Amino acid sequence: METKEMTLMQDAQNKHTNDLIKSVAQYESLSEEFIRAGVAAGTIVIPKNFNRTLKKIIAVGTGLKTKVNANIGTSPDHIDIAQELAKLDIAVESGADAIMDLSTGGNLNQIRKEILAASHVQVGTVPIYEAACKTVAKGKEISQIDGDLLFDIIEEQAQQGVDFMTVHCGINKATVEILNRHRRLTGVVSRGGSFLVKCINATGKENPLFERYDKLLQIAKKYDVTLSLGDGFRPCCIQDASDYPQIAELAVLGELVLRARKAGVQSMIEGPGHVPLNQIEANVVLAKKLGHNAPLYFLGPLVTDIAPGYDHITSSIGGAIAASYGVDFICYVTPAEHLRLPDLQDVRVGVISARIAAHAADIVKGVSGAKEYDGQMSKWRKARNWEKQKEFCIDPVKFAKERTKLMASQEDVCTMCGRFCSMRDE
Ligand code: SF4
Repeated sequence: METKEMTLMQDAQNKHTNDLIKSVAQYESLSEEFIRAGVAAGTIVIPKNFNRTLKKIIAVGTGLKTKVNANIGTSPDHIDIAQELAKLDIAVESGADAIMDLSTGGNLNQIRKEILAASHVQVGTVPIYEAACKTVAKGKEISQIDGDLLFDIIEEQAQQGVDFMTVHCGINKATVEILNRHRRLTGVVSRGGSFLVKCINATGKENPLFERYDKLLQIAKKYDVTLSLGDGFRPCCIQDASDYPQIAELAVLGELVLRARKAGVQSMIEGPGHVPLNQIEANVVLAKKLGHNAPLYFLGPLVTDIAPGYDHITSSIGGAIAASYGVDFICYVTPAEHLRLPDLQDVRVGVISARIAAHAADIVKGVSGAKEYDGQMSKWRKARNWEKQKEFCIDPVKFAKERTKLMASQEDVCTMCGRFCSMRDE
């Protein structure tokens, strides 16, 4: 049983195997003891707020299947709750393991409540977005975001049932000083990160998320919220990848992981961003090392800057490589990245693309059943069993649509080779 006496991490540290751990062990085809030990050590997280009831619980971390997150949410220029709820549905139908509400337009409280009520998967947020929106609504500058307001919002969101929160605690006066000394091509692209840099540079005051980290841990503990330690200095172009500010922030996050574990709070570390292929392995190794093997949650990384409209591909290339080296959780990128707010089709394509990356990595990671799944698909392909291929493939909807666009004269082949089909034995 789950109790509110102690967090899941504390429970696991006390050698107790509760229902959440049992359900994850079953889903992952791994032993309950493996999951319990991972949660206790902080190498596995199961983000789940005390105030939520969920049908599907996923865990993120070492030894597990690579998971996929889909971001949804309004923007100041496009506020349509019904559409965001439709995005939630299509993301989950397409196989997203978790979703994040990144809304910055409209009634954020109402949008979040509706998303939490409708979502059968774990939900994450970035509370500083709401703090920024409320600050601007009062006619103030972003740089005037108030620490007390931010903490009130964090507590309110935690009370509502948010399972994991991105908190940019690694941006502090020291890391901003490093940022200010190292000129970047694209500056600070993380929205939350850029807000906090503005606050520190304008006021000279410390980031409240860093300065009052113990208070943040208290709130996280009270509701069992998992902290996703945000990469506010993630590079937004390959030229800025692996630079001093990015690594300085990562080092701070690693120390904060240890403090979270001591408090019995689950935590993971977010990662870049835009990273060229030849730096991905180093980024993952460093993040695991400095992060004390905390689960890694990467956005991509995008391996080139030149392909707007195709960034679901540039990020999936990076995501597959990053996950094969140990990244545990991939945030999808849609074809709309860098262009506009994604629509329903973008969400669908983004989730499927990230799932392909995750699965490709799982084959290399040796995740239970991953390689066998490909073997089964290949068996049906060789047999030219189109129904079974449709059933087994990652996107049956697309399979059916493409297959029927142009039918071959002989049913057991396709129009690529027709009667010269080399899958036939004769
Ligand atoms: S016709 Fe060509 S492409 Fe189609 S199944 Fe046979 S070998 Fe594959």
